Amino acid sequence: MLDESLRVLSREEVDGRHVVRRDTPTSTGPLFVSWGTFNLLCGGCDFLLMSRLPQGREAVSGVAIECPNCGALNGA
Ligand SMILES: [Zn+2]
Repeated sequence: MLDESLRVLSREEVDGRHVVRRDTPTSTGPLFVSWGTFNLLCGGCDFLLMSRLPQGREAVSGVAIECPNCGALNGA
């Protein structure tokens, strides 16, 4: 498994991006699980945001992922 950390985005960078956030506040695991080899981690707190993606951080370019642990908005 390859772990890649995302970057915490500035407010200006978040503008215009689709924000991906958890819609079930009671769950605790990654926001998304697939069958690949890349794990994407929050750039603020190392929370596992996306597990086993087929691609690395380029897979989430253009979106902002809200960390359910620390609230940071992450991007590639
Ligand atoms: Zn975080």
